[in-house]
Amino acid sequence: MGEIFPDALPIFVHEAVLEEILDFSEQDVSRERGGFLVGGLHEDRRMYVEVRHFLPALETRSRAASLTFTHETWSELNKEVETKFADEVVIGWHHTHPNFGIFLSAYDLFIHRNFFSQPWQIAMVVDPQRQELGFFQWRQDQVADCGFVCVWDDKPRP
Ligand SMILES: [Zn+2]
Repeated sequence: MGEIFPDALPIFVHEAVLEEILDFSEQDVSRERGGFLVGGLHEDRRMYVEVRHFLPALETRSRAASLTFTHETWSELNKEVETKFADEVVIGWHHTHPNFGIFLSAYDLFIHRNFFSQPWQIAMVVDPQRQELGFFQWRQDQVADCGFVCVWDDKPRP
C-alpha cells in the first residue's frame, strides 16, 4: 500500500497488528491517541523493519489536536518493551489525527526528530474518521511519507 521507494527501507506490518492499531484509533475520536510500534530490524540482502506489536501509550496527555508523550509514557514504554518484548526494538510511533488527515505537523516532526532519530524509525498516522492511514520514514534528513507491506499471517498459501 502506498509508494515504496526502491532505495528506502521496506516496512512490513502484520495484519493483526494493523487491525489492532485501527481499532485502538477508532475507540476515541474526540482527541488524538497514540502508541508505539515494536518489532524487529532485519537484514536479509537488504535491511527492513517488521512491525510485530503495538503498545498503546496510556499515560498521554492529549488535547483535540495534540498529543504529548510525558516522562511516564517513556518509562512505561521502556519497561513494557523490556519485560514483554525483550528481543525487540521500538520501531516507531503511531498517533491519530481525528478528521484532519494524514501528515506530520511541525510538532510531530519535532517528536520524530528528537525521539525517533534512528534512520530506520518510522511514524504512522491514522485518521479514524476519514479512514485513512499513512507511514513516514527518514529519507536523507527529511521525514517523508512512504508505503508499507501488509503481512497476512493466517492466509493459506497457494
Ligand atoms: Zn500529529
